[in-house]
Amino acid sequence: MTKLANIDWGNLGFSYIKTDFRYVSNWKDGKWDEGKLVTDNKLTISEGSTALHYGQQCFEGLKAYRTKNGDIQLFRPYENAKRINNSAQRLLMPEIPEEKFIDAILQVVRANEAYVPPYGTGGTLYIRPLLIGVGDNIGVGPASEYLFCVFCIPVGPYYKGGMKPVNYTVSDYDRAAPYGTGMAKVGGNYAASLYSHELARKSGFADCIYLDPTTHTKIEEVGAANFFGITKDDEFVTPQSPSILPSITKYSLLYLAKEFLHLKVAERDVLIDNLDEFKEAGACGTAAVITPIGGIQYKDKLHVFHSETEVGPVTQKLYDTLCGIQFGDLEAPGGWILKV
Ligand SMILES: *Cc1c(COP(=O)(O)O)cnc(C)c1O
Repeated sequence: MTKLANIDWGNLGFSYIKTDFRYVSNWKDGKWDEGKLVTDNKLTISEGSTALHYGQQCFEGLKAYRTKNGDIQLFRPYENAKRINNSAQRLLMPEIPEEKFIDAILQVVRANEAYVPPYGTGGTLYIRPLLIGVGDNIGVGPASEYLFCVFCIPVGPYYKGGMKPVNYTVSDYDRAAPYGTGMAKVGGNYAASLYSHELARKSGFADCIYLDPTTHTKIEEVGAANFFGITKDDEFVTPQSPSILPSITKYSLLYLAKEFLHLKVAERDVLIDNLDEFKEAGACGTAAVITPIGGIQYKDKLHVFHSETEVGPVTQKLYDTLCGIQFGDLEAPGGWILKV
C-alpha cells in the first residue's frame, strides 16, 4: 500500500478537495484523442461552449473502496459506463467507448491512490466523470467539440455514527418531464431541482419528494435519489417511470433484497395516497447508499413509516449487505467488483 495523503480521515465530509491528478480527453473531428492525466484542476473552454449555454453536459458518480487488506476496488463501474452513454445519446453527444471510460477511472484512482481513505473509516474515493460540449459555438445545436474529464475526491461516510432517518416533504414542482431528460444524468435536472430543494430545507425537511409530473399522484424521486419501500408483507417495491434516473444502487438493492434477503420484489407505481402499505422506506444512491425515510409530509400530514429516529430492520440489513460487498467484506455477485 502506498503512503496515505496527509488528511484527517475521521473528519471528511462531502466537499471539493483538490487531489493530485485528473484525466482529460478531447473529442474533435469525429474522434477521441488518447486522453491523459493532468495536474491542473482548471478547465479552459470557449465562451461559446454548449455546456455553458444550453446545458449540453452529463455526468456520473461512483466510488472506489479500500478493503480490509488495503486493496482498492470499484463497484459496478460498467453500469456507469452504460449510463453515461445513454445520457450522451439523449443529448446528442459522442459516446465514450466502455474501455476508455473504465481506463480513465482506473488511471485516476491509481494516480490518486494516496487519497483512498483507509478501511474502517467508512470513507471512500468519490469519482466524478463528466462529459461536456465545448468549442466556439453559439447557435442552438450540438457542440463541435467535447471534453471528457474524470476527477476524484476523498469523502467521508455519509452518516457519522450510523444511518439516521430523515423527513421529506412532497414538492409541488417537477424535476423532469415525461419523455424529457429524467432518465439521463444531466445537470439540467439538477438546476431544476435547486429551488424546490431550498423550499424543502427552509420548511425543515432534508429534501423533497417529486411526484410523477403528469398526475402528481405517484412517487418518482426523493431529491436526487431513488425511492424504495418495504411493504407490510415483505416486498421490496420501487417506482417505475421513464422520468426516474435508473439508480445503480437501487437495482443493486433490489437484487440483494431478492437473492440475499429472499424478499419479493416489484417495480411498480407507488401512490402517495397509499403510503400505509409500507412498514419501511428509504432513499438510495451512491453518495449515501441508503437514507432511511422517517416520514413524508403530504398535504399537512406527516406519514411516519418505521420510526422518525430508528432505522427499520430490513433497511439496516440491506445497507449492511450492500456496504459489506462494496468494502469487500462480503462476497459480491459476479461482475459487481472491479479490482484496481
Ligand atoms: C445519480 C442519481 C441517482 C442515484 O444513482 P446511483 O447510480 O445509485 O448513484 C438517483 N437519482 C438521480 C436524479 C440521480 O442523478
